[in-house]
Amino acid sequence: MRSKYDVLVIGGGPAGALAAKTAAEKGLSVCLIEKRPAIGAPVRCAEGIGKEALAEFIDPDPRWISAEMSGAGIVAPDGFEMTLASSMAGGKVGYILDRKVFDRELVWRAADAGADVYVKTRASAPIIHDGRLKGAQLECCGNVSKVMADVIIAADGVESKFGKWYGIDTTVPIREIMSSVQYVMTDIDINPHATIFYLGNEVAPEGYLWVFPKGKRAANVGIGISGRKSGKGHRAKDYLDRFVKQKFPHGKTIECIVGGVSVCRPLECTAADNLMFVGDAARVVDPLTGGGIYNAMFTGKLAAEVAADCIAKGDLSKKALMTYDREWRTSKMGRSIERNYHIKEYMIKLSDEQLNAIIHSVSALDLTELSTLTLIKELLKANPKLLLELGALAASIR
Ligand SMILES: Cc1cc2nc3c(=O)[nH]c(=O)nc-3n(C[C@H](O)[C@H](O)[C@H](O)COP(=O)(O)OP(=O)(O)OC[C@H]3O[C@@H](n4cnc5c(N)ncnc54)[C@H](O)[C@@H]3O)c2cc1C
Repeated sequence: MRSKYDVLVIGGGPAGALAAKTAAEKGLSVCLIEKRPAIGAPVRCAEGIGKEALAEFIDPDPRWISAEMSGAGIVAPDGFEMTLASSMAGGKVGYILDRKVFDRELVWRAADAGADVYVKTRASAPIIHDGRLKGAQLECCGNVSKVMADVIIAADGVESKFGKWYGIDTTVPIREIMSSVQYVMTDIDINPHATIFYLGNEVAPEGYLWVFPKGKRAANVGIGISGRKSGKGHRAKDYLDRFVKQKFPHGKTIECIVGGVSVCRPLECTAADNLMFVGDAARVVDPLTGGGIYNAMFTGKLAAEVAADCIAKGDLSKKALMTYDREWRTSKMGRSIERNYHIKEYMIKLSDEQLNAIIHSVSALDLTELSTLTLIKELLKANPKLLLELGALAASIR
C-alpha cells in the first residue's frame, strides 16, 4: 500500500464503492479499505431498489438481480391487502438485488477505474497534525500502518465510528434505530413478483415487516421495529418468528441476519476539514422506508465529484467541502429525506384503526415506480383527511 493518496475511502459498501470509482475516474489516486474479508458479505439488507433509481448508476445485470418486481402489496393490521400494480409502467417497478454480487461488482468497477482496494483492513483511528485531519491508522491481520490522504470519505455504514473518533457526534437516538432481523427463506408460498409490506402495532411496532421475493419460492423475510419498542419477549426476532410460524410454517430458513437501520434525520453537517460523510455514515437513509442503497450511491458519487473539484483548487477546508453538503440536501434525494422524516413521525403515532382506515380507502393503486413519493402521492389523493392532517407537508408533495 502507498503511504499517501489523494482520497482514502473507508468502507466498501455502495457509498464507498461509488465514491472510489468516481474519484478514480476523475484521475485521483484512491485507496478503498474494507474491514470485512469479502466485499458484500454478510448481506445486511432486504435488497430492494427501484428500477429508475438503480439505472442512474449502473445498467441492470442478471448476475446480481435476484428477482424483478411488477407490483407490491401493503397489508393493513386487520389483514386487508392493498394492491399496488404496475400496469401503467409495463411491469417496471423494482428489483430485488443479490447484494453479495452487486456490492462486489461496484467495488470491482472502482478497482477497474484505478482505485486500490484492501479488504480485511480496518481504519482504527484518525491521524491529526496541527489540528487537521491528515490520514488514518489502519489495521490488517495484526499489522498497523498509516496512510495519509488529502480527503477522507467516511463510508463506514450505520455503525460509523470514524467521525466519532474525530470528535463529531454521529450518535443515533435509540428510538430512531430500527432494530432489524431478516431470514432468507425458501420453500414458501409467495407471489414471486410482488413485494409485500405488513403494518401494525401487533406485527411490527413503529416499523414494518417485509417479504421481498428472491425467486419462485424464496424470499427475504424481515422486520424492523423501533429500538424503543424492543425488549425482552418482544424483540424484532420475536415478532418475526411469530409471523413466520403463522404464515410460512413449512418454510426453511437458510440465512439469518441482524442489523440496525437509522431512521433519524441526516447528520447536521456531512463535511469537515478534509473529511466527508456518505451513505449510512451520513445517516441519509430514507427515514420512512429504511431504504439506503440509492442514497448511498448518490452521496458517494457526489462527494467524490466535489472532492475532485476541491483538490484541483487546492482547498480542502470544511467551507470548500460544504458544497457537497449543500448539494445533496437540496437535491431530490435530500428533500425527500426531510419530507419522509415528517411522514414517518406522523405514521408511527397512528393506531391500528387509523392505519386500517387509510389502507382500506385505497383498494388498488397503479404504480409507475417502487418509490415512496409515488405511494404517498396516491395515498394522499385517496385520503383528503390525511392530506389535511399532514398540512403544509402534504402541500409540498403535490
Ligand atoms: C435489515 C436491513 C434491510 C435493509 N433493506 C434495504 C432495502 O431493501 N433497500 C435499501 O435500499 N436499503 C436497505 N437497507 C439499508 C441499506 O442496506 C444501506 O442503506 C446501505 O447498505 C448503505 O450503504 P453504505 O455503503 O452507506 O453502508 P454499508 O453498505 O453498510 O457499507 C459500509 C461498509 O463499511 C465497512 N466498515 C465499517 N467500519 C469500517 C472501518 N473502520 N474500516 C473499514 N471498513 C469499515 C463495513 O464493513 C461495511 O462493509 C437495509 C438495511 C438493513 C439493516
